[in-house]
Amino acid sequence: MSEPAVVHLKPGRDKSLRRWHPWIFSGAIARVSGTPNAGDTVSVVGANGVPLGLGAYSPHSQIRVRLWTFDPHQEIDAAFLAEQVARAVARRGTPDEGGPWARRLVHAENDGLPGLIVDRYGDQLVAQILAAGAERWKEELADALLAATGCSGLYERSDADVRIKEGLPVRAGHWRGPQAPELVEIRENGVRLLVDVRQGHKTGFYLDQRAARARVADLAAGRRVLNCFAYTGGFGLAALRGGAEHVTHLDSSGPALALADRHGELNGFERSRRESVEADAFARLRQWQREGRSFDLVVLDPPKFVESRQHLPRGCRGYKDINLQALKLLRPGGLLVTFSCSGLLEADLFQKIVADAALDAGRHLQLVERLGQADDHPVLLSFPEGAYLKGLVCRAD
Ligand code: SAH
Repeated sequence: MSEPAVVHLKPGRDKSLRRWHPWIFSGAIARVSGTPNAGDTVSVVGANGVPLGLGAYSPHSQIRVRLWTFDPHQEIDAAFLAEQVARAVARRGTPDEGGPWARRLVHAENDGLPGLIVDRYGDQLVAQILAAGAERWKEELADALLAATGCSGLYERSDADVRIKEGLPVRAGHWRGPQAPELVEIRENGVRLLVDVRQGHKTGFYLDQRAARARVADLAAGRRVLNCFAYTGGFGLAALRGGAEHVTHLDSSGPALALADRHGELNGFERSRRESVEADAFARLRQWQREGRSFDLVVLDPPKFVESRQHLPRGCRGYKDINLQALKLLRPGGLLVTFSCSGLLEADLFQKIVADAALDAGRHLQLVERLGQADDHPVLLSFPEGAYLKGLVCRAD
């Protein structure tokens, strides 16, 4: 192979790389020698000429290089990527006996594979390719994934908006092996669930909340539960499994709620214990206050309100409002289980927002537990961006 192009950093801009942070922003680059194409491997050198690692070049992204390795002598080829994939898959352990297994197998940068997300639903793999480097090596990565897992089917969901920032086309569809079934059945904490890998959000399901759903199952016995931002019912089904008296799923998506209802049937939870309400949460929580409705446990798992730094103030107001409205529906002694999946909103600030909401609601709140993304979504400590999901379990007076 010819020598890779070289990305020369500006003086003083090698600090984050020396701390193994895997991104180089365009503003840190002094010059590029050679003419790398999107996804080509480039060598990164400091202003003093010292080689710092090898990464994938992304000419259209603010994140101009994502490092594959901090070892300047490593060859970046199919064998290297297969090794990274095999290690990521091995970290998740082997599928257990409790029914079709579902795990995130590759968590991008956090597993040494920038821009690659892979979720496993039973024997079906679903991949998202979100950066130029992973795009360049996509067929080699597919080979490695099938070999490391023994799965035969691979579906692609490279239809996330971040592809546009990378200058990559949006793409989704069958990729390898047999066609994916309409709905793939999985088992989570003893609950049967169906995943729509074609039309569902992200790769079809929010695997990151598996551990938190297990906690909600533990807390739900005998309670009347509001599962706000329910999607296909995950938290509410966990609550029913945990012995909740009744669950209300609230979401603005009809198709997601249709699946939540189907999940209720599939798991044999009586109709009288569950309902689904299609509405805007901000408006409906206010309506329910006027009607005097109340709950013993409210789960708030909204979509990402902070999409970019400039949206931080507006996003914070969104979190404050939804938490305030939820608290107004909480009975004395009730539990609020509240989340933010906005990576740009730090955990401390999120907690302050919930505290502000409690103050406005006139409710003393005790923090009883912190929750986070499940262990198949590990966070590389040199890459704090990998930690995006935070949750608080609070008890109201
Ligand atoms: N808790 C879910 C995941 C929630 S994802 C789980 O465990 O699987 C966020 C959900 O919020 C999506 O289903 C989306 O349809 C819904 N949503 C987004 N904006 C909304 C709004 N304003 N009102 C109600 N639901 C909304």
